[in-house]
Amino acid sequence: MKLLSFIVLWSLLIPATVSGIDMQPETIRVAVLKGAESVTLEGNGLLLTDGNGEPLRVNLPLQIRKYKDGLSVNNRRVRSLRATAPAFLLINGKGYRGIIEVLPADKGILVVDELPLEDYLVGLINCEISSQWPIEAVKAQAVIARSYAVYQKAARKNALYHLESSVMDQVYDGCDIEDSRAVRGVRETAGEVLTYNGAVIQAFYHSNCGGHTEASENVWGFALPYLSGVECKYCLTSPSVKWQLSIPLKKLESQLRSSGYHVFGVKDIKPGIRNRSGRLQDLTIVSAKGRTVISAVNFRKAIGYSVIKSTNFDVRISGDEAHFTGAGYGHGVGLCQWGAKQRASDGFDYREILSYYYPGTKLEKISTD
Ligand SMILES: [Zn+2]
Repeated sequence: MKLLSFIVLWSLLIPATVSGIDMQPETIRVAVLKGAESVTLEGNGLLLTDGNGEPLRVNLPLQIRKYKDGLSVNNRRVRSLRATAPAFLLINGKGYRGIIEVLPADKGILVVDELPLEDYLVGLINCEISSQWPIEAVKAQAVIARSYAVYQKAARKNALYHLESSVMDQVYDGCDIEDSRAVRGVRETAGEVLTYNGAVIQAFYHSNCGGHTEASENVWGFALPYLSGVECKYCLTSPSVKWQLSIPLKKLESQLRSSGYHVFGVKDIKPGIRNRSGRLQDLTIVSAKGRTVISAVNFRKAIGYSVIKSTNFDVRISGDEAHFTGAGYGHGVGLCQWGAKQRASDGFDYREILSYYYPGTKLEKISTD
């Protein structure tokens, strides 16, 4: 009997172990710090290994600097560093979940956080929107951020990390701003992604479209059937929809020059033709050097994405300043976050919101556990 119970126990244990390996939650690697000169790391129950997988015993907190082609950790040299903790770790005083890798980079230090995708999404919600928005808008945000992350993970599978933690990909600032509504939005959509023809979509999204979302080819030069642009009047009541600003011509000029445009003595800025969404395709800078045509997307990049908030604007010159008035915030492709908020307030559920902004897509479940 004893032998039998031993065998039974083993047969119970082995499949459990195997399925435990198979059922690792899907993880994502996020660059949480890039080019840092030094990093402080601490946490309760911190486990550290060096680049060779050997345990590292040093006093907390850790002061990490780049040293030659490796790192100096409290003045000890290692090639790289890997850290885990039962709950979370603190990087420069900020909480992060999962496994933290600290690596020397060409410039300074790179810190990559590898964590379960669903945990990442909970932290992301309050970086991208507010979890206090109607729950259907929070759920829509969870689905598109998950879809975006899954797509990028596959696209960058051989890279050191899958996602930036900035607007370059999706904003992520650790776990300190997680809350129960963010958890709810993620859990109630657990594992759900948007697909088109069976493949996870590039679920681009933005803050506020200003009336009509943009076709992807007008921003990045590639057309996608589910990103062709839709009318969106839902964001027009949001506080952030209209913007205006004045920029001294001298400043504008120097910013354009530092982006490689040869403009000297700007006299006029003429808006060019507009896309179906109302956004400018290009504009012509009239300067003492002649006329320079700049695509509106590159103009926005040169002057600053948070300064020229969208390419849907008018401009006039008065004295030595350029006056801009515009609508919307962001590239305008895919879901409009403020529009989604309004649609959720109007009683639409997240499925309806998503199928509106990404026409032709399907909501499907991928395994997350
Ligand atoms: Zn909108």
